[in-house]
Amino acid sequence: MKKVLVANRGEIAIRIIRACRIMHLTSVAIYSTADKKALHVKLADQAICIGAASPENSYLNQQNILAAAKITQADAIHPGYGFLSENAEFAKLCEKEGIKFIGPSSHVIEIMGQKAVARKTMLNAGVPIVPGSEDDFQSLEKGIRFANQLGYPLMLKASAGGGGKGMRLVHSAEEFKKEFLLAQNEAKHAFSDGHMYLEKYLSHPRHIEVQVIADQFGNAAALGERDCTIQHRHQKVLEEAPAVALDNESRKKMFAISVEAIKSIHYEGVGTLEFLFEGPGQFYFMEMNTRLQVEHPVTELTSNENIVDLQLRIAAGQKLPFSQKNIRIKNFALECRIMALTPGKIKVLHLPGGNGIRIDTALYQGYIVPANYDALIAKIIAYGPDRTTVISQMQAALDETVIYGIQTNLDFLTQLVHEPKYLDNDTDINWLDTLMENT
Ligand code: ADP
Repeated sequence: MKKVLVANRGEIAIRIIRACRIMHLTSVAIYSTADKKALHVKLADQAICIGAASPENSYLNQQNILAAAKITQADAIHPGYGFLSENAEFAKLCEKEGIKFIGPSSHVIEIMGQKAVARKTMLNAGVPIVPGSEDDFQSLEKGIRFANQLGYPLMLKASAGGGGKGMRLVHSAEEFKKEFLLAQNEAKHAFSDGHMYLEKYLSHPRHIEVQVIADQFGNAAALGERDCTIQHRHQKVLEEAPAVALDNESRKKMFAISVEAIKSIHYEGVGTLEFLFEGPGQFYFMEMNTRLQVEHPVTELTSNENIVDLQLRIAAGQKLPFSQKNIRIKNFALECRIMALTPGKIKVLHLPGGNGIRIDTALYQGYIVPANYDALIAKIIAYGPDRTTVISQMQAALDETVIYGIQTNLDFLTQLVHEPKYLDNDTDINWLDTLMENT
């Protein structure tokens, strides 16, 4: 493997291009007409325009991306997160063309992409899952039958779902029909797939996820867990590692179960198993993401492993350079997602730095944030000896940050990292939504 096409944009494209450079791999950036002046285009060794601004015409255009890979003679494609990263069809096309898709096989992506199938697969592999419907369904009648068996409140979810789309909390049988039709419609729209399934609604869990990694030879390990409990409308806002609310016994079990599960499906590359955690011994698998995660830096800073570098090595056929017993989690890390609330030109930019601060961003002064893509514009990651110290570092880092020209969620994040309940870690997945409703 000598040349890697990075099929993404923004901060994650830059993260991958940097990893390529350090490993002496040639990087190829792709870009849409809206991204001509984007930083990833400037930083890559080569860059190729693949279409118009709308994602369908560019970053989701499989044929154009494959053509770009062939023209530039790239050996591999790194999909990043979002866009085509969990698209089994695209992975399959790459396999057919003899271009290495950096991630698991198209077959594994397919299984994990259908959440109802993923639940069954994981259950068979010995992973506890959130109690729910034993199958997915498309008809209202079948849904009502499953719902009555399961009881209320319940979570109605789209089997092809992601990003909280096609997901609804249903309190009672009276609400079921209306919510089902709404959720299914949303799912059909977003994913062209109307398969739904049910889960018991857990009222006060934390979201805890396990970062796993496996090579092509069946060696696998867990690189630690992340706590992503602080969410707004089911979207992650802050991410921490390690999860200080997790007891050691549960952690050990979660790791062992996750590693066994990915071995049993012949997983390759990095991935994340998401769990809802209700207390010692009570954790339930929700879904698996078969790609690099936005919040991977908090794991890098606490495991002292370079996850993107490892992805590239594994894709090139190298063995995992460590085993589970070599993984030592040290320190604490916290990530804030800086979001653009409006598009526009960055007139003034000052990002924080110094001891214990890492910034992953594609911003520069004068850059115009386009309206066409994901709103994530920067990640500030603070790391240090413990949670309290690191939160102080984050408070200072956010105070120092200046982004003029567009509206961002900086003020919101600043307030959030001062909330007494957050400081006490006395939260659950509904905490932030409830707080925002009441203020
Ligand atoms: P998506 O893939 O669309 O993001 P997930 O299944 O990962 O959907 O769920 C997103 C979030 O929704 C979770 O992190 C959690 O906060 C909440 N959630 C999901 N399932 C349940 C459940 N059964 N009970 C309570 N909350 C849930």
